[in-house]
Amino acid sequence: MTPTIVEVTAAPLRRPEVLGRTAPPSVSWDSTGMMHALSSDRSFAGQAMRFEPPWDDALCVVTASDGSFGVGMTSQAGPVMPIINDFFGPMIVGESVLAIERLWNMMSRSANSAFGAAGLAAYALSAVDLALWDLKGKVLGRPVYELIGGPARERTRCYATGNDLDDSRNRGFDAFKLAGSVGPGSGTAGIAETERLVASARSELGPDADIMLDCWSSLDASYTVRLGEALAPYRLTWIEDYAQPDDWPGYADVRRRLPTQMLAAGERWLTDRAFAYAAQQRLVDVLQPDVQWVGGATAVLRIAAIAASSGIELALHGGSNDSYGQHLCHALPQNRWAEMYVGCPPGESLMNAWRSTPGMSLPDDGWLVPSEAPGFGIELTSEQIDAAVGQADS
Ligand SMILES: [Mg+2]
Repeated sequence: MTPTIVEVTAAPLRRPEVLGRTAPPSVSWDSTGMMHALSSDRSFAGQAMRFEPPWDDALCVVTASDGSFGVGMTSQAGPVMPIINDFFGPMIVGESVLAIERLWNMMSRSANSAFGAAGLAAYALSAVDLALWDLKGKVLGRPVYELIGGPARERTRCYATGNDLDDSRNRGFDAFKLAGSVGPGSGTAGIAETERLVASARSELGPDADIMLDCWSSLDASYTVRLGEALAPYRLTWIEDYAQPDDWPGYADVRRRLPTQMLAAGERWLTDRAFAYAAQQRLVDVLQPDVQWVGGATAVLRIAAIAASSGIELALHGGSNDSYGQHLCHALPQNRWAEMYVGCPPGESLMNAWRSTPGMSLPDDGWLVPSEAPGFGIELTSEQIDAAVGQADS
């Protein structure tokens, strides 16, 4: 008999060190002064942390009638917890643990009619959906990448995100994403500064290296066009997240005025609807959903179908930083890259950094193969979960 859902709980991840994450957050990009949409204005540069929400990440556990459980994660625990504990959880208790498409439909449509399925609801939906896929894999005894049609290949190529190129190369990566350091508030001098960053990377890495540039949603259309024209000689693989996430005319403008530059966006687009629109309008060349924000693995599968049928590339945001992204990257043929955000000091294990969980794989010489354990292969006991969400001072 198919197990049913008996409990859904979400709690803030107050002790990430229980999961092995001991590195201070965002080490390698703090030095750029970027990392926030306000950083386009020089007077806010380097103050990203001041404008970050104060909430922990959230950990969601879905428990089945046979005693098995699945683990999902997302960000912004403060407002996300009541959406899960008071709204989505009670809605799906008693349902089959295997009917994820049905459950996702119930949750997303209900949220959409109540307060919108994008925004914080998509974060909450992500955590529940990921817990459900983890649980389904455990119940069926198979890794998630098999349940969704993979593996697509033997291993997935990774790129390193971070401006310390020596550290990234020492870790075995041969493809790199830089953070631009300034935005429109710096005018022509800002474009020259970013050009120096990219020129130096090209000269250091050679003519054949893949180099990308992330702009943290801190530019606008006309500045992006000026920047793209200045950077054309350096043959960037793509320019990413240049416009505000909801600046649809801005994306169209950049596409029209930078016709040959590869463009990427999507880590801040929530639910599959934004991606369907972007694909219909051919706004970007690479779709970059974040599995912990966009609506979970179910949303990413929808976006993967959109990408495949539109002939557009997929490259999951932080695709190798967590076991969720790793399984999706491994299973989806149109996902060519797995991003590794190197958020820890040089030489320190990536297992100590952003989003890692016990049992997770790490890139080997820039290539990734996920754990083949059931579900997402997250090795956490109930006791460890309790400790991870416990009060920090208890
Ligand atoms: Mg990015």
